[in-house]
Amino acid sequence: MIEQMNLPMTSLSDKKAHFVLIPLVAQGHLIPMTDLAHLLAERGVHVSLITTPNNATRIRPIVQRSIETNLPIQFVELKFPCAQIGLPDECENFDLIDGSYFLPFFKVNKLLRDPLEQYLRDHHIPPSCIISDGCNPWTAEVARRLCIPRLVFHGPSGLYALCNYNTIRKSKILNHLTDYSEQFVLPDMPLTLQSNKANEPNFFNAPGWKEFHDDVFKAETTADSIVLNTFENLERQFIELYEKGIGKKLWTVGPLNLYNKEEYSKSLRGNKLGAEKQEIVLNWLNSHEPKSILYISFGSIARQNGLQLMELGSGLEVANKPFIWVVKEAEITPEVDRWLSEDFEKRVQQKGLICRGWVPQLSILSHPSVGGFMTHCGWNSILESISLGVPMITWPQFADQFTNEKLVVDILGLGVSLGTKALCWLPAVDDETIWVHREDIEKAVQKLMGEEEEAKEMRRRAADMADNAKKAMEKGGSSYDNITRLIESFML
Ligand code: UDP
Repeated sequence: MIEQMNLPMTSLSDKKAHFVLIPLVAQGHLIPMTDLAHLLAERGVHVSLITTPNNATRIRPIVQRSIETNLPIQFVELKFPCAQIGLPDECENFDLIDGSYFLPFFKVNKLLRDPLEQYLRDHHIPPSCIISDGCNPWTAEVARRLCIPRLVFHGPSGLYALCNYNTIRKSKILNHLTDYSEQFVLPDMPLTLQSNKANEPNFFNAPGWKEFHDDVFKAETTADSIVLNTFENLERQFIELYEKGIGKKLWTVGPLNLYNKEEYSKSLRGNKLGAEKQEIVLNWLNSHEPKSILYISFGSIARQNGLQLMELGSGLEVANKPFIWVVKEAEITPEVDRWLSEDFEKRVQQKGLICRGWVPQLSILSHPSVGGFMTHCGWNSILESISLGVPMITWPQFADQFTNEKLVVDILGLGVSLGTKALCWLPAVDDETIWVHREDIEKAVQKLMGEEEEAKEMRRRAADMADNAKKAMEKGGSSYDNITRLIESFML
């Protein structure tokens, strides 16, 4: 039996629009949806954010803050039945499992359907609409049964990647190619860009994923409109293309991370963080020159094996630029732990800070001493970097990250690529196609953090795009106005 717990965090009056937000239980999905919830609530909408007990624990300090500031957000906890796939109770987020559990996890996620429907039926304020993550296609049935308009939220995907994928799907161009390195130009795209099969991962193209793949695309086809975490000046040429392709209104409302203006909300975003760790990170950042530090992090899901971590460490050491590097708890085997604490950390202590586990990424990227970001090209990381004017070294690991890399490096000129290839859309810790040698790491770091004209030009472009991002979110900006129109379209 799935329990439903409704936390009456704030009391909702029944005069305004009521938006029900349903994120996928993964950090890259939950975080932008939580930002969206706050943004809508600040603009006067009543928001119910659907989550699960352990994911709610992660955002508890933010929930607390919402109560104190009387934001009309209700955080609703539905029990996530992990036990059904043999996982421990607290295993409620994609960052706690490895790739082999992804498919069963999506199947369990679908079981939230009945408790969600019950919650919506029982709620005293009828929902004006549901905004549901693109990977939650099961919400389509709930919306249909209750006659509630439903919007799909592509929070963790950029428009270039979505257009790219739609074109590949419709043209079936990859089906005709046996050679992974054969160059082709994607048809019907507004830009002429060379690609090859090795850089075009098909979404959900692994064995067993067809049903889920079809559900996701059907749920988009039957949605009322689409909400995107991007902004006009960043992906203008792809807005019209996608809108035409799916025949629906698009609402570009990002970059949502810019909702977080104060330090507390930047540092608490996505997870609790010990005060001690926060102080260590802040002191490290404060003790360096402006734009001198390279930040290295690969999001919440991608994991690297011990050999690759050591190779990366060696590259950073030789590059000899200040750095702050996040190594995930799941990556720290006894061997990696020994290497870090008995060897590497001692050797680089003047130059680098290694953080184990979660860090306040938004605080780090906002800090004036950070001048570069080595990233796996998750859409949130890219958007955060772009909106804060930080150029990137790109090291995509799986899924749309390879397409995002292309946007950053080839279209926007905001990054240096490490040249990895995509052969599967799922993360794989021992995938040799995403292996990078220390010499290439050193070269990329020197290139991005150096004083050559190319690096300076990239910094100028990054600063300009950050300016555009801020303007989009300010009063009168394109994303601000889209949020206004989106809310107005549901005013009672
Ligand atoms: N993040 C963070 N601290 C970490 C790791 C990740 O705050 O130590 C945040 C990051 O700022 C981003 C999200 O987690 O908002 C990761 O999303 P992204 O789309 O970049 O990658 P994914 O985790 O989905 O692969």
